[in-house]
Amino acid sequence: MRNDMPPRIAVVGGGLAGLTLALALHRAGLACQVYEQAPQLGEVGAGIQLAPSATRLLHRLGLEPPLRSLAVEPVGMEFRRWADSSVISRGLLGAHCEQRYGAPYYALHRADLHRVLVEALPAGTIRLDARCVDFREGPEGVVLRFADGTEAAADVAVGADGIHSVLRQSLVADRPRAFGQSVYRGLVDGRRVPELVAEPRVLLWLGPGRHFVCYPVSGGRLVNFVATVPTSGSTDESWSRRGRVEDVIAAYERWCADVTSVIGAADKVSLWALHDRAPVERWSTGRITLLGDSAHPMLPFLGQGANQAVEDAVALAGCLRDAGSRTLPAALERYESMRRPRTTEVQERSRGNSTAFHLPDGEAQRERDARMGALAPDGPDWLYGYDVEGALAGRQST
Ligand SMILES: Cc1cc2nc3c(=O)[nH]c(=O)nc-3n(C[C@H](O)[C@H](O)[C@H](O)COP(=O)(O)OP(=O)(O)OC[C@H]3O[C@@H](n4cnc5c(N)ncnc54)[C@H](O)[C@@H]3O)c2cc1C
Repeated sequence: MRNDMPPRIAVVGGGLAGLTLALALHRAGLACQVYEQAPQLGEVGAGIQLAPSATRLLHRLGLEPPLRSLAVEPVGMEFRRWADSSVISRGLLGAHCEQRYGAPYYALHRADLHRVLVEALPAGTIRLDARCVDFREGPEGVVLRFADGTEAAADVAVGADGIHSVLRQSLVADRPRAFGQSVYRGLVDGRRVPELVAEPRVLLWLGPGRHFVCYPVSGGRLVNFVATVPTSGSTDESWSRRGRVEDVIAAYERWCADVTSVIGAADKVSLWALHDRAPVERWSTGRITLLGDSAHPMLPFLGQGANQAVEDAVALAGCLRDAGSRTLPAALERYESMRRPRTTEVQERSRGNSTAFHLPDGEAQRERDARMGALAPDGPDWLYGYDVEGALAGRQST
């Protein structure tokens, strides 16, 4: 790096991870260039839950006004039984999160979150139609090569390019693991399920071999749902594709009316084959690091992938901000050692939930319900109470 100049930072991928990093760097007084393969910006038509450990960071990045106006703030989270919709356990969100964690719990349309991030960035930060296909790393920096034959040099390159990350290939010799389950995702007009909008909650119905999640987004105009199903046939089925509503109806035929009425109100659904990767021992070299799904892709059974990406982004921006002119490799090492223990735990707990959520009817399921019913409604402090900026300042252990 040129000692007297700010580092040139290249971010590959303009998803929620890459854009949050770009904004965190901007707020820290560091510029970056985001390279996004898509010709247009956008996110999938689906919902996302953001917990206080991420919303407090997004607020500090200046996004509180738009997020408050776009997000739904669920009052609680309920786990219910698949057959009769009886409540297994209740957790408090809403005002409780604000009091206990100093930040809200949001349910959002992904496109709204993506747009808010884009609008907060300085013009020219994102280059579209820029698919990174290769890179060379040297002691002084990285040269990225793109599908159109152009190249870009940087002092640091960050792979925010999702679970199929190109930058990850040089750091870790692994491949995404097919989980053997897919999810149908749909958005339903809130007027067709008014009872789910009146007092917004995150609702999860647990049943043998599958579970169903729903919550309102977009100010209650839409209700998002996610329905898991065992994957039939080849595990290398397409990553995401259009699904058929009648297949979701058939998969949940014997479930309670609370679930089937939501599915019945859907006009279309998308289908995603679930994959993750095992936690790794390292995800940085001297000049390259990863964040978000490229670093620690996880199953969505804790609703944490994007939350962890937001935490990563603020941690990495802080480490780069604090770095002296000759210490970029040390900054990347610090970032990774702050983040890896936590994201490993979240990856492992996400996978663990798949077993607990999908138990067949019987003794083990009754024990699970009793255990969950006995939990305090306060929320998981280890997850929601974590403050990346506290960790950066040495006030919170990682
Ligand atoms: C069903 C489901 C529900 C979920 N629910 C939640 C939830 O409630 N809360 C939560 O926190 N998380 C949730 N997640 C996880 C969350 O969606 C992801 O963790 C998050 O979106 C990852 O963001 P990312 O930016 O790291 O990756 P991505 O969203 O995959 O973005 C990667 C970006 O990089 C671009 N890109 C890829 N390759 C290249 C390349 N070679 N060159 C240039 N650009 C490239 C892509 O086009 C894309 O824009 C859920 C996931 C699923 C599947």
